[in-house]
Amino acid sequence: MKEVRKINDFGYVVKRSDRKSIGITIERDGSVTVRSPFFVPADEINRFVSNKRIWIQQKLSEKALLSREKPRREFVNGQGFLYLGRSYRLRYVDGNRASMSPKGRQGLALCLKNGYFELDEARKESARRHFVSWYTRKTEEKLRERIPRCDKRIGVNVERFRVSSLGHRWASLSRNKVINFNWRSVMAPIWVFDYILVHEMVHMIEKPHSRRFWQIISRVIPDYEEHVRWLAENGRELEL
Ligand SMILES: [Zn+2]
Repeated sequence: MKEVRKINDFGYVVKRSDRKSIGITIERDGSVTVRSPFFVPADEINRFVSNKRIWIQQKLSEKALLSREKPRREFVNGQGFLYLGRSYRLRYVDGNRASMSPKGRQGLALCLKNGYFELDEARKESARRHFVSWYTRKTEEKLRERIPRCDKRIGVNVERFRVSSLGHRWASLSRNKVINFNWRSVMAPIWVFDYILVHEMVHMIEKPHSRRFWQIISRVIPDYEEHVRWLAENGRELEL
C-alpha cells in the first residue's frame, strides 16, 4: 500500500504495513519514506511528519553533500565558482605579468578580483587544490568575523575552530568544543553560513536537537527553517 503526500517543500511516500509505530526514513536517493501501521489516519501521519520536518530537512541537507550528481566543475576559463552565494568566473592570467605577483596578495595563487577568480595559467594542473586553499582561507576569515557577532547572544565562547573537508557534514562540534567547518560552507550565502555557524555554537550548550536547541536557534535566527531548507535544496551545488 503506497500513498504519496507533500508537506512544505518535500514529498514523501507512505508505506503501510503491520507495524506498531510510525517511522521516517531518508532513502539513499534523498526521497522520504514514512512507514506507518495500517489504521493511522492520514492527518495524524501528516502531523507526525510536520513535527519532524526540521530533522528531515537537516538530513536532506546532509544527503545533498553526499549526492552523487555533484556538479563537476571544470577548471577552465569562464567556469563559474561560488563564493557567498554568488558565482564568479575563472580567468587564467599570465603569472609573470607585472600586475600580479606570483602568489596573490594573501599568499594564495588564486585570488578573487574585479569579479573574477584569477589563477596563474602555470598552475592550471593544480587548480582544484588552489580553490580548496582559497575556500579554506575564506572560511577561516568569515568565522573570525562572524563568531563575535553571536557568541554573547548565545552565551558561548568559541576558542578554536578548524576548517577542513568534512565529508557529509557542513560543520560539527568536537568533544573538546572545537568547531569543525567544511570549507564548502563559504560557497553558501552569508545568511546560510551564519546558520551553519550558529547551529554548532548552540550545540556547545545544548547537545541534542531538542526543543530547547531549536528554541535557542530561533532566538538568534527567527526564520531558521528557511535556512535549513535552503541547504536541503541547494546544498548539492556547493561543490567543486
Ligand atoms: Zn546539529
